[in-house]
Amino acid sequence: MEFGNWSAKLKCTTMAYVIIDTCTKDNACVEACPVDCIHPKEGEPGYEEAPQLYIHPEECIDCGACVPVCPTESIFPLEELPEDKKEFYAINARYYGIEVSG
Ligand code: SF4
Repeated sequence: MEFGNWSAKLKCTTMAYVIIDTCTKDNACVEACPVDCIHPKEGEPGYEEAPQLYIHPEECIDCGACVPVCPTESIFPLEELPEDKKEFYAINARYYGIEVSG
């Protein structure tokens, strides 16, 4: 059986929260997240080059703790993403090697 790269091929139908490109890597969300699902964190590979932070679509527990601490209001529940920012659903997931539809 072939289980290699299983998570990378997983099709997600839900994703709790999404970060958009107004993120300034303030890192307040990283501190607030109880499950450590926002990356890259300062000091992690790729942090300096990353244009923004990303939420892991499968690890996010939909708690909403990151939303009020974001100084640029860059975090949205998937269903409330602005129309012109819908692509960030896939962009967040892709950072973790996960392809999503929609
Ligand atoms: Fe982390 Fe909660 Fe924000 Fe999801 S909603 S990224 S679990 S703080």
